[in-house]
Amino acid sequence: TTAHVAAMEDLRGLNAFITETPDKAIEMAKASDAKLARGEGGPLEGLPIAIKDLFCTEGVRTTAGSKILGNFVPTYESTVTSQLWRDGAVMLGKLNMDEFAMGSANITSAYGNVENPWRRQDGSNAKLVPGGSSGGSAASVAARMTLAATGTDTGGSIRQPAAFTGIVGIKPTYGRCSRWGVVAFASSLDQAGPMARTVQDAAIMLRSMAGFDPKDSTSVDLAVPDFEAALTGDIRGLKIGIPKEYRVDGMPAEIERIWKQGADWLRDAGAEIVDVSLPHTKYALATYYIVAPAEASSNLARYDGVRYGLRVEGGSLNEMYENTRAAGFGREVKRRVMIGTYVLSAGYYDAYYTKAQKLRTLIARDFTEAYQRCDAILTPTAPSTAFAIGEKQDDPIAMYLNDVFTVPASMAGLPGLSVPAGLGDDGLPLGLQLLGRPFDEETVLRIAHVME
Ligand code: GLN
Repeated sequence: TTAHVAAMEDLRGLNAFITETPDKAIEMAKASDAKLARGEGGPLEGLPIAIKDLFCTEGVRTTAGSKILGNFVPTYESTVTSQLWRDGAVMLGKLNMDEFAMGSANITSAYGNVENPWRRQDGSNAKLVPGGSSGGSAASVAARMTLAATGTDTGGSIRQPAAFTGIVGIKPTYGRCSRWGVVAFASSLDQAGPMARTVQDAAIMLRSMAGFDPKDSTSVDLAVPDFEAALTGDIRGLKIGIPKEYRVDGMPAEIERIWKQGADWLRDAGAEIVDVSLPHTKYALATYYIVAPAEASSNLARYDGVRYGLRVEGGSLNEMYENTRAAGFGREVKRRVMIGTYVLSAGYYDAYYTKAQKLRTLIARDFTEAYQRCDAILTPTAPSTAFAIGEKQDDPIAMYLNDVFTVPASMAGLPGLSVPAGLGDDGLPLGLQLLGRPFDEETVLRIAHVME
């Protein structure tokens, strides 16, 4: 823990942390040492990790990357984090992220950009984004400040930053981890998950994070498997689907190459590669950018200057609301609230929101059908390697396109994992995504383990 605290302080330039809690870390580590000395201790005893600043942590400021929660100190602990502490993990601090988890580059945080520890091999030294929204989580693991970190994924926010920084990230099935105490973005999509250096580490973390919670009515009452035991190294006979619709126009050759290479590795390991079709894939991104902002606009209504955080006075109650929200929210959050309220407004509800919900069903059905022919699906995680900070900054559509491969599984609530699969032409990490059947994280982890 002392070494990790030192690394956290040495690497402040990456801006991965919003709040450092070194004293708490040392105190927790001492308690862990005492337990271990007595021959006790949980599966994560003494392991230094950090927490995306979207999880409420009792007595430790939780900002969600927003100015509006800049002074919010929760009086309660999220279920996921309390399970991690129960199992012995040690908290180094709270990690930077896109504001309210809206973004794919960690450039919408009110606490500044996070920098990717990787550099292009051309020596250009351009500063690169770590992906988002769990950018601080990804950078902290990739730069060895933390052994692992929590992330959350609504449309790709665990998987895409994992790919951009060369680490493993898994978004479990919707309902696998409790959302209680996690600041809500889009409640029907949000899911917590681990980000770690290896598939094994991710499997161990996930076991602690997962489980039924009566406080979250969407968490599912299923036994939590020993995910680590699923890493048998044997994938013989498994059928892996390659969805033809993921060959999107203009896909860079390096992405094609790594995808094919991944399929070859799996074939060599004894899996069978089959073609599958997910015909509604082309609607997934548009549908997501209706459903997610709609839910966000409703969830974010609670930041009114009364119940939480920032308050900017005004002449009347309405003026106080307006002033608080105008000063507290950043540009991307305001854009999402506007899109969301628009698609939910009486005149447009059917044209946008209802239609998007119908498409969501069709997208989910595509997967159900595909899984009659295969056990898991292999795709690229993102359409490029990490891009430079500043690139795509003023082009929300280009930014949204980054989520093209991750969003469909989010819409269907399915588990998805990103595993490092090699380097692109610029020497930066590329990830491959494995998608599984509902609550079949084990198969996804087993396959990913063979690809490491
Ligand atoms: N990049 C997507 C968005 O901006 C996904 C974010 C996430 O998964 N939290 O909405």
